Amino acid sequence: MVLAFHKVEPRLTWGVTNYSPGRFLRLLDSLALHNQSGAADGVSITFDDGYRSFLDYADPALIEHGFTTTIFAVSSLAGKRNSWDYSSILAPSAHMTATELKRCILHGHRVQSHGKTHRDLRSLSDRELKDELAGSKDWIENVTEEEVCEICYPFGLYDRRVEDVAKEVGYKRGWSMNPRDKGPFTYGRWGVYGFDTPLTVNAKLSPDSFASELEFLKLRATNGMARAGRFAFWTT
Ligand SMILES: [Zn+2]
Repeated sequence: MVLAFHKVEPRLTWGVTNYSPGRFLRLLDSLALHNQSGAADGVSITFDDGYRSFLDYADPALIEHGFTTTIFAVSSLAGKRNSWDYSSILAPSAHMTATELKRCILHGHRVQSHGKTHRDLRSLSDRELKDELAGSKDWIENVTEEEVCEICYPFGLYDRRVEDVAKEVGYKRGWSMNPRDKGPFTYGRWGVYGFDTPLTVNAKLSPDSFASELEFLKLRATNGMARAGRFAFWTT
């Protein structure tokens, strides 16, 4: 089972993608117990967008609990401020620089692609799509000196054409935000948001349970409202 986080920051940020450092520590206690319990399905952790706060708050806690993660970075935004998940009254979070992404590699994490500009890949022309997928792959490989073979679709949005071009430029796996996606090329993850607790995350980790079904319905309802434009803060 794969979880998707965004920000771990000790401040008020726009939307639902921030998880406070204190709660993150408590959640890691619970996830470490889950993995040590011999559960058939161990949990792994991913971080989308490559925010700089990862190194300050998430990384030390992850190391303390024996976790490494995959960070999905947006290549052309390295070292810049976020441009889609903020409001005018709360400062946007910064993305990691190339040097900081490299430091993540040295700490045992992986850095893979979340595209070049964090646009809905389905909306791009063939040429733009290829540039977005191949360009981000090349840039991250140059920075990390490791193979980039996984693409995490911005906003979790993809279609058959996006998958085909991703394969064509050398990716071996795609990731969405629908936990029920099961490939063959695109796999799903459970997003963890500011309102989640160890209890709700544990429910997500219990496949086929009533609690898991409830979490899935919550996810669908929230996504449905976001698409209707009622909650512009719902971003991945
Ligand atoms: Zn994202």
